[in-house]
Amino acid sequence: DDLTGTILGRIRDVPDYPSPGVMFKDITPLLGDHAAFSAVIDALVPGTRVDKVVGIEARGFILAAPVAYHAGAGFVPVRKKGKLPAEALEASYDLEYGSAVIEVHRDAFAPGDRVLIVDDVLATGGTARAAVELVGRAGAEVVGVSVLMELAFLNGRDRLGGVDLRALVVV
Ligand code: 5GP
Repeated sequence: DDLTGTILGRIRDVPDYPSPGVMFKDITPLLGDHAAFSAVIDALVPGTRVDKVVGIEARGFILAAPVAYHAGAGFVPVRKKGKLPAEALEASYDLEYGSAVIEVHRDAFAPGDRVLIVDDVLATGGTARAAVELVGRAGAEVVGVSVLMELAFLNGRDRLGGVDLRALVVV
């Protein structure tokens, strides 16, 4: 449809970034276009009530903060290990080579908060999977994961178990 074309026309494929053999989806052309950016934010705003919107560092922040604003929800950052100032919970996940650790503040949620997790791209699903785990351990309820783009050939969706995944475009 219209939104799909708007998005696909403004995502740039960058070969061999960040490492050889990877085709990186660069969202900066989309972010720089007001009409496209606002259409994407509107489409990511959930249809159900949420208390918090989680953004995953760093591109997830750019999308999650305006989604939170429009949804009437708070914003919560999930960050790479060592970046959050107060007491944090951590979850690790496997990368192609090695592993990574993300964190959330222990007191980021009220008990039972309904939470939407937002990121730009779902690739292998490891990052989103770890964020889902973190939010649950912090005492909140994940009502869904929403991404701008899902790279279906990496089967990330399968790693999210029963969590509701919404992607504005699937490639
Ligand atoms: P995953 O954990 O699903 O393999 O990777 C998803 C995470 O890595 C997301 O936080 C996303 O920002 C980043 N990522 C992986 N591949 C790409 C890509 O091609 N383009 C962009 N913009 N981000 C990517």
